[in-house]
Amino acid sequence: MQLVDIGANLTHDSFDRDRDEVLARARAAGVAQLVVTGASREHSPLALELAQRHPGMLYATAGVHPHHASEYTDECDAEMRALHAHPQVVAVGECGLDYFRDFSPRPAQRRAFERQLQIGADTAKPLFLHQRDAHADFMAIMKDFDGRLGPAVVHCFTGTREEMFDYLDNDWYIGITGWLCASAAARTCASW
Ligand SMILES: [Zn+2]
Repeated sequence: MQLVDIGANLTHDSFDRDRDEVLARARAAGVAQLVVTGASREHSPLALELAQRHPGMLYATAGVHPHHASEYTDECDAEMRALHAHPQVVAVGECGLDYFRDFSPRPAQRRAFERQLQIGADTAKPLFLHQRDAHADFMAIMKDFDGRLGPAVVHCFTGTREEMFDYLDNDWYIGITGWLCASAAARTCASW
């Protein structure tokens, strides 16, 4: 069986010493492709650079995590759109809402999320989404884009059964926190 890891935080500096070894072990374990998560202005270009160094095995997302939503300016939006012009950038995100940690103010989180969903609508790329303790606002914003978005995975799922069915009713996928953290390529995701 061949596996695809869709959420590898491989740009994190904890991989600087052994990134190639991690990739070799992933390949040996049957992981044919990995999507490197871009989650900030700093790391999204790095995710693309890494993907370009490993064509056919690595791909990237480009986005700004809700923790970094305060940095989502017009200039940042232009940077994200430039990254999405590259074919190796295969999904929009990581983006969404995180009211569990509130590292960025909630209005800034909603604004950054909406602007990135607009990129998703404009590019028709899949979405790599994050939601924690923000279900109602998350659903309201997603509803504003109803019918204009590609497939979506809502990772870091920690919600209720009812919330899960809200996602499944929309044909969105969920990622379970903990499973991702167990993967060889995701040492850093515990709080993300
Ligand atoms: Zn996340």
